[in-house]
Amino acid sequence: MDCIFCKIAGGEIPSDILHQDDRVIVIRDINPQAPVHLLIMPREHIASLRDIDDANASLMGHMALVANQMAEREGVMEKGYRLAINCGDEGGQTVGHLHAHLLGGRQLSGRLG
Ligand code: AMP
Ligand code: ZN
Repeated sequence: MDCIFCKIAGGEIPSDILHQDDRVIVIRDINPQAPVHLLIMPREHIASLRDIDDANASLMGHMALVANQMAEREGVMEKGYRLAINCGDEGGQTVGHLHAHLLGGRQLSGRLG
């Protein structure tokens, strides 16, 4: 499958992987929107949040735990950060492999859309 994030997770495209475990990897966004802008994504190809079901729902809890670990490591835990998932075209999703944006390091706008 021609999926850029699968290629990164599989090591086909070399990338600076900040965290990896059996379920997720974390990379820096190539076009950062904040001083800290990470992408937390499953190793497995899951196209979007729409594809979360009873069988894989625990992945979302794991992504939240990894987000907290990364926020701590990146020094944004205390001041706060945002975890955002864009789903589908109108949700602003441009890469069709589920990922959560971890944004922090500046005051983020309260505006979400
Ligand atoms: P979304 O619009 O929610 O689908 O987010 C896709 C994100 O992936 C964007 O913020 C892009 O900057 C980012 N991105 C695309 N290609 C790469 C890449 N090769 N490495 C890191 N981030 C990427
Ligand atoms: Zn993929």
